[in-house]
Amino acid sequence: MNKNLLLAAIAGKETSVIDEVADLEGVKPNFLCRQIASGRIVVMQRYGGPPLGIGEGLKTKINANIGTSADVFDPDIEVEKARTAEKYGADTISDLSMGGDIDAIRQKILDETSVPITTVPIYQTVVEKGSFLDMTEQDLIRMIKKHVSMGISSIVVHAGFTLEMLEKLRNSKRIMGMVSKGGSFTSAWMLQNSRENPFLSYFDEICGALSEKDVVLSLGNTMRSGCIHDHMDGPQEMEMELNARLAGRANELGVQVIIEGMGGHVSPEKIADYVAHYKNVTNHRPLFVAGPLPLDIGVGYDHISGCVGGSLAAGAGADYLCYITPSEHLALPNVDQVREGVVAFKIAAHVGDILKYGPRPEDQILAGHRRARDWEGQFRAAIDGDRAREIHNQDKRETCSMCGKYCAILIMEEYLK
Ligand code: SF4
Repeated sequence: MNKNLLLAAIAGKETSVIDEVADLEGVKPNFLCRQIASGRIVVMQRYGGPPLGIGEGLKTKINANIGTSADVFDPDIEVEKARTAEKYGADTISDLSMGGDIDAIRQKILDETSVPITTVPIYQTVVEKGSFLDMTEQDLIRMIKKHVSMGISSIVVHAGFTLEMLEKLRNSKRIMGMVSKGGSFTSAWMLQNSRENPFLSYFDEICGALSEKDVVLSLGNTMRSGCIHDHMDGPQEMEMELNARLAGRANELGVQVIIEGMGGHVSPEKIADYVAHYKNVTNHRPLFVAGPLPLDIGVGYDHISGCVGGSLAAGAGADYLCYITPSEHLALPNVDQVREGVVAFKIAAHVGDILKYGPRPEDQILAGHRRARDWEGQFRAAIDGDRAREIHNQDKRETCSMCGKYCAILIMEEYLK
């Protein structure tokens, strides 16, 4: 693994990692090198897997959240979720475990996957201290260093908000207030102890730990909206601006940065404008969006709602989407729900890429197989060929049961010969 990829790119060195990502993405290495140097693209790396580029000019990527909760903590199920997420195309996996033997679960996930793994170190800190009120700044830094030493590729910290912003939030007219879990832990600690944001106070030390192993910093999105009637407001704007400044500081210290933003719940007519605003304020750094959900009433089908919102966001310029599963707001997802969420967001990312870059060759390949009534070819070209095969469920037939012998493609094949 190359140390300090960002510093190498700033020095104009096209490293082997840069060549590999350029090859995977079909872009020129010198373009990639310039984009990394300017902070517009980051590369996540991990042992045993290919490096992953995220940012402007590259394919839209998706992340799958897995991990135990305080109520449900079966390590085998989480490993199965990780395998399923990778199998169906998740570009990255976030292990958000908060139950059971968290270190052992994370190690198993690392052993069984090859995509980059992200963590939110405050989650494990809270579990191990027994309460978010009892942790110290040094507990948080120790946990960050432990995760880095385990070989994760990216961490999330909620550094971009202050006590002043929390006061503004207290007085805001939001319906949903704050919906970020990591942000809520950090905020409760700050308010209880009357101390400033610990990730902000120790930002340079955290960056030092990350730059040593070239771990990407994801700046969390504490002030995001939690329903579509909550709009971008003062606290969200202030967090975005502070995150933009922190990203610049992290880059100076050799740390690549992703900005988490916008996500949560955003009314659909606002999504494109909000993406453009985030991009402008953050100097076009990689934008990571959870969803967004463009409506609130799709409960039980939030992967579909999220697919629509994610398509709009990616098409407007978001670089990296965090999936949403059918169990969003309801329960910890099971393995099948992880698969549904991943596929929904592969679709969203693909629609986004069509909007960004024009029609993609993958769709042309599938259309060719469809015209030839080559079912196996269609299954191979589909995002989830297993699902397509299950539904088709017919051996050696020229057509499918939708029209049977009245298959339009078959009829016209004969008559247009
Ligand atoms: S039978 Fe109907 S739905 Fe099936 S492939 Fe032919 S035209 Fe398409």
